Amino acid sequence: MKTLFQKIADREIPSKMVYEDEICFAIEDINPQAPTHILVIPKRVISRLSAAMDSDAGTLGHLLTVAGKIAAERGLSGGFRTVINSGPDAGETVPHLHVHLIGGRKLAWPPG
Ligand code: AMP
Repeated sequence: MKTLFQKIADREIPSKMVYEDEICFAIEDINPQAPTHILVIPKRVISRLSAAMDSDAGTLGHLLTVAGKIAAERGLSGGFRTVINSGPDAGETVPHLHVHLIGGRKLAWPPG
């Protein structure tokens, strides 16, 4: 059974793809919370951080470096936020780990 994001990666569900390489891809969030709201998603499914293994360290690092590059390309020099929601209490709705890249407006802290 494919996850929502696997179906998007396989072009079975349309998306606004903004980046892709052999390890991950990035799409515009369908319900953006800021002027920039992009999801950076590994092609190989890791359900959430609590399920990540030591062997996933390279993939996880890659997601963050890609997020940083996209932020730079988008001109988010004033700052941006990266978020991984893990589990129901954090608001995870898609059980396929993804990094939210959010920016383009002043972001409140602490988050809700
Ligand atoms: P999370 O709640 O952290 O699991 O994040 C899931 C994110 O996926 C939410 O921000 C949703 O708006 C987003 N999302 C859900 N379906 C789609 C879709 N078809 N295309 C793009 N983003 C989506």
